[in-house]
Amino acid sequence: MAVIVTGGSRGIGRAISEEVGETTPVVVNYRSDASAAAETVAAIEADGGDAVSVQADVSNPDDATKLISIAREEYGEITAVVNNAGITRPAQVEEIEPAQWQSVIGTNLSGAFYVTQAAASALRETSGDVVMISSIGGTGGTVDASYAASKAGLHGLTRALAREFGDDGVQVNAIAPGPVETDMNDVIVKYLESVNFKGHEGIGTHLPEYACNPDAIAHSVRYLLENPYVQGEILCVNGGMQFR
Ligand code: NDP
Repeated sequence: MAVIVTGGSRGIGRAISEEVGETTPVVVNYRSDASAAAETVAAIEADGGDAVSVQADVSNPDDATKLISIAREEYGEITAVVNNAGITRPAQVEEIEPAQWQSVIGTNLSGAFYVTQAAASALRETSGDVVMISSIGGTGGTVDASYAASKAGLHGLTRALAREFGDDGVQVNAIAPGPVETDMNDVIVKYLESVNFKGHEGIGTHLPEYACNPDAIAHSVRYLLENPYVQGEILCVNGGMQFR
């Protein structure tokens, strides 16, 4: 029995892997940084948990299939998939090249679809869970149009899959974080400063902090995994930023 966390090696994914790892074996997926994945596995094992790292680029459907096959060989049943892997390439709309657009959509939206599709029959067997890590950018837009579009797409995917999987007891929900302290957020903040972007002004007056700790997102994943009655929801975890 295991939970799969895509992009589980760093940032929010690492916090999710460690939190889930307290109770369930974890498959820690990563794309390129094997040492970060090894560190996450070691941290889970040091706390008495069980985990393996698996390299797979979720934007590649063959890799997604490989990820699920390895997870099944290693642990048998899959009780949850957390589609956390994501990238952003902030740029003005005129500057977004087709390849850049495709890579963001391919990772954030298609990747979540490919992994969930590969795990679908396993999830039906366990009446498991799917959690999408989307973004406040998917509800209100953000500085990267490809990113916002990919995350809004995840919300549609969440609701479609909740309908389709519901009869088999599979829960499908999304968490839409505001800014979270990770490498990705550093990239976004640098970009905002470089273009003197004004749209985020006043955040500090509404939020306890500009960016939250990744643990806040990990706790929210655990809440969804432990609550059998939430279905097809987009859970905003952003300190009230959606009301700005
Ligand atoms: P980080 O950049 O810190 O970490 C990204 C993780 O995703 C890494 O483990 C990386 O692996 C993995 N990854 C990236 N591309 C792929 C791929 N194609 N296949 C498999 N794994 C991949 O990001 P965050 O932790 O900040 O973000 C995690 C999720 O949360 C993303 O979906 C992001 O959009 C979302 N989010 C983040 C917010 C923030 O402020 N940080 C706010 C709202 C949402 P590797 O290192 O090996 O490349």
